[in-house]
Amino acid sequence: MNARIRPDLASIPAYVAGRSLPDVVKLASNETTFGPLPSVSKAIAEAVEQINRYPDNGAGELRAALAQFLGVEVANVAAGCGSVALCQELVQITCDAPTDEVIFAWRSFEAYPIVTQVGNARAVPVPLTSEFTHDLDAMAAAVTPNTKLIFVCNPNNPTGTAVGRAELVRFLDKVSEHVLIVLDEAYYEYLRLPADDFPDGVAIRRDRPNVVVLRTFSKAYGLAGLRVGYAVGDPEVITALLKVHIPFSVNRVAQAAAIACLQARHELLDRTDRVVAERERMRAALRAVGYNVPPSESNFFWLPLGDRSAAYGQASEEAGVVVRPYGADGVRVTAGDPHENDLFLTYATDAATVTRYLG
Ligand SMILES: *Cc1c(COP(=O)(O)O)cnc(C)c1O
Repeated sequence: MNARIRPDLASIPAYVAGRSLPDVVKLASNETTFGPLPSVSKAIAEAVEQINRYPDNGAGELRAALAQFLGVEVANVAAGCGSVALCQELVQITCDAPTDEVIFAWRSFEAYPIVTQVGNARAVPVPLTSEFTHDLDAMAAAVTPNTKLIFVCNPNNPTGTAVGRAELVRFLDKVSEHVLIVLDEAYYEYLRLPADDFPDGVAIRRDRPNVVVLRTFSKAYGLAGLRVGYAVGDPEVITALLKVHIPFSVNRVAQAAAIACLQARHELLDRTDRVVAERERMRAALRAVGYNVPPSESNFFWLPLGDRSAAYGQASEEAGVVVRPYGADGVRVTAGDPHENDLFLTYATDAATVTRYLG
């Protein structure tokens, strides 16, 4: 082919999704195992009747519902085709030169380096601490006059760890107000930190116009297949996001389903208690046989198995459970239904597995 595609795209790694295999349990994508509530299915069915019409590009009804739920103004809320689209849009509204820098922890959400490079900016990954948490002091120290954007994934995907409010606020106080800081709270609903240190980004950002919070309907709200997330930020940030937004990319069905989920939020959020209980049960069972499992505030946990990670993932798959290995760093396991989790624990705590991977 002779058309001139950007040569730098060749070096962008493809986004690796968790594998889906028939007849195998999938604990690889941090999804909710519960299907939609009847009220949500009904809203979806009604919206389908109108799909010959374009959706509301401004997502007015959804943004109004979110604003009311969060106690902010509609002007503080933007919707996106999943919060991953908002990650990309945040790079687009801040970076316009190849020298512009985007800081994020590593390992963290694998979309960050991809959207940074797609945006023609420079990625500045900052290693996690030895406890697999954000090294916020090192991230603050990595800020230069070229820094335009910082992603803080809290709780962090894939390690599940979270930083508390006090630590987060100390970091935000340190960073120049010229830098836009993104608190990616995709797993916010699974946080169980004590109330006096609870890192609620929406509350924390109230008096901080350079902080924007991302949340999503994909995880606790169970709409991963419909693609809708949102940003909460200063009206100027929101206006800029609307400028780079791909028109109509939050579709009609997704908007209707998200509104129905918000109305049913008590029931949906009750489900997170069951997932949190499973996460703790699995973590305890794994620690009992010798695994190092960092504390998790999400619906998954991290097994830092180093260069054994790929083989561990392969063997788990052969035992009937797909998990998510990350290079030579570790393996991420989602907490699913109890019977699915039991299947994983049977594999993971088996004497042969323990000897082979922890020995
Ligand atoms: C899953 C996830 C998202 C976004 O998911 P969407 O489905 O695009 O809303 C964003 N950030 C992190 C850290 C995630 O794990």
